[in-house]
Amino acid sequence: MSDYDVIVIGSGIGGLTSASLLSKRGLKVLIVEQNSTAGGLCNSFSKNGYTFDIAASIFWGFGHGEVFHWLFSEFNILNDLLERESVIRKIEPGLQVILPNHRINIYSERNRFYEELKREFPSDMENLIKFYQESDKIEDEIYYLLNKDHFYSVKNHYPHENKRLKKLYTAISIFLKRKKDILQIAGRWVNPLEIKYFIDLQLTYFMHKKTSDASLPLLSIILGIPKRGIYGIKGGARVLTGILEKQLIKHGGKITYNSTAEEIILKGSKACGVKVRQGNSVSELKADWIISNTAFSNIESSLIKKKRKKNQFLKINKKIENGLMPFSVLLGVDEKVIPELMGEHAIMLRDYELPFSDSNILFISVSPGWDETRAPHGKRCITATYFLFPDEAGKINWEIERENKTKEMIDHLEQLIPFISEFIDCAYSITPDDYQRSTMRREGILRGFSNLSGPYGFNSLSFKTPVRKLLKVGDEVFPGLGVAHTAKSGIRAAEEILKRY
Ligand SMILES: Cc1cc2nc3c(=O)[nH]c(=O)nc-3n(C[C@H](O)[C@H](O)[C@H](O)COP(=O)(O)OP(=O)(O)OC[C@H]3O[C@@H](n4cnc5c(N)ncnc54)[C@H](O)[C@@H]3O)c2cc1C
Repeated sequence: MSDYDVIVIGSGIGGLTSASLLSKRGLKVLIVEQNSTAGGLCNSFSKNGYTFDIAASIFWGFGHGEVFHWLFSEFNILNDLLERESVIRKIEPGLQVILPNHRINIYSERNRFYEELKREFPSDMENLIKFYQESDKIEDEIYYLLNKDHFYSVKNHYPHENKRLKKLYTAISIFLKRKKDILQIAGRWVNPLEIKYFIDLQLTYFMHKKTSDASLPLLSIILGIPKRGIYGIKGGARVLTGILEKQLIKHGGKITYNSTAEEIILKGSKACGVKVRQGNSVSELKADWIISNTAFSNIESSLIKKKRKKNQFLKINKKIENGLMPFSVLLGVDEKVIPELMGEHAIMLRDYELPFSDSNILFISVSPGWDETRAPHGKRCITATYFLFPDEAGKINWEIERENKTKEMIDHLEQLIPFISEFIDCAYSITPDDYQRSTMRREGILRGFSNLSGPYGFNSLSFKTPVRKLLKVGDEVFPGLGVAHTAKSGIRAAEEILKRY
């Protein structure tokens, strides 16, 4: 006899989405979480009257037909959150892209956005607008196809089960094999480097991709994110986590904190339980299904003991791109210092003298002015992050360098927010080591897909694993990075299980 229908290892957005949905549908569910709170990277902490997001701070997927819209409708809480209590509100502009000589606001409304392009890139404007119109056409097509029937049902995610999408996908793949850099497709640019930086910064912001390594469908979906709406959550990231956790518990699910899954127990080639450590005690819990929200590298290195299965996970792990290691600085500041024209979310180069590279990009988020719960009156929270490759991050002793790196980050921010250092109330930092401890991700914190030709990861890793009855959710599987995408992976895994009940 099993103790649970489903045990979920980890309470990141992926795990929480599966678990809450499965409990709502009547299954007996337990989440095992090693931290003392839920959410993983979608979390916040409060100190000195401020509530800082620790990682995810820009949100999407709340528009009609999108993932959280669908999920909240399932839980009958959509009107409360989006309308009655206005917990979730659209942010305009969704993103601000900052280049040495340009500041471009990406509004959800395309005509308003095109006005920005006209002002900032007059000589390339015509081509650029054409490029966005083409990109939007593809995005609309994919969006329409995925939304037909029910957006999240598994059958919509595979080209061979969706003939129209397969046709589109094949045509584009053939085309891209000839011409990989999509910017070339749009024609001749007067200032090609500026345009490339402008597009690449958007792709990096949402998916850590560049034009040279993203297929046209993937690119069009990423560039379409602000068009579908960027949102702020009153109270920060942990409120989103709290909403799902509340639904889990309301429908009879359980979550146990400070509990680490140490082994996935197998019976033949099937998962049937989890060995869980809580302090000094270890217990074996049986379940019909296991969902892992922990990294493939953890499954391979410690959770699966059988050598043959281990090797299969090792192979999967190798398919995923090398991870990036984030360093974040969280600041409580006087809102007087924030320039009037600055958006809530911005992306820029750390050092204008250095070339464009992943580690030279700065992500900045400011808590929304309308969210008085995030900071004392007249103050705001800022989260500033950059990402390093593991070999770069590994050379730094973060405990020794924490203070210097924090000061260096504040210096970078001076480019965007002059005099900021004089208006800081409090400063905290999260090093790559901290991120590793809190997520248990060993091989880099953010790992994107390496599959060039998979639009939106159609050919990328799915939720199924080499072990029967063990599914994988989170940002290492389709459809990839970000809270909204991770929630989708959670829905897909839940649906796979529900098919059997
Ligand atoms: C610095 C940074 C900024 C980001 N900004 C944004 C943003 O603005 N917008 C956005 O949409 N996305 C953003 N992302 C990406 C987004 O946060 C992630 O893609 C998403 O939150 C990942 O969710 P997940 O479910 O995969 O897992 P995680 O958040 O990693 O959660 C996994 C959970 O599993 C637990 N766990 C792991 N192993 C075990 C075990 N053996 N036993 C028990 N528990 C275990 C961990 O403690 C953790 O709580 C950002 C990421 C980073 C790092």
